[in-house]
Amino acid sequence: MQELTPEQRQLQLNRLTFEETEWRAVRSLSEIKGLCKEHVVIRGWLRWSPVKQTVVETEHSDSASCSICGVDLGWWCPENPKGYCEYDDKSENCIFCHQPDERK
Ligand SMILES: [Zn+2]
Ligand SMILES: [Zn+2]
Repeated sequence: MQELTPEQRQLQLNRLTFEETEWRAVRSLSEIKGLCKEHVVIRGWLRWSPVKQTVVETEHSDSASCSICGVDLGWWCPENPKGYCEYDDKSENCIFCHQPDERK
């Protein structure tokens, strides 16, 4: 291997450290999804926005998600008390609002 300059060595160390941090963060996020026993369904998303550098709620959305663990629950459903579209084996349409799963 080529001899690294001190600057290169530092960059390499920084990269590897951040890669480790990223890996731990991804694992922790998936653990949170497993720990959320009862989703709290909201219309839209509660998310940390990289653009605004703060937590934002996007309520004008046709998506439903869990405000605790952030899991994507598909389409927001105005008819289902659970708040999101549900389907059965017989049809591609929601059993509550009868909208198709595939929408633009
Ligand atoms: Zn949840
Ligand atoms: Zn529906």
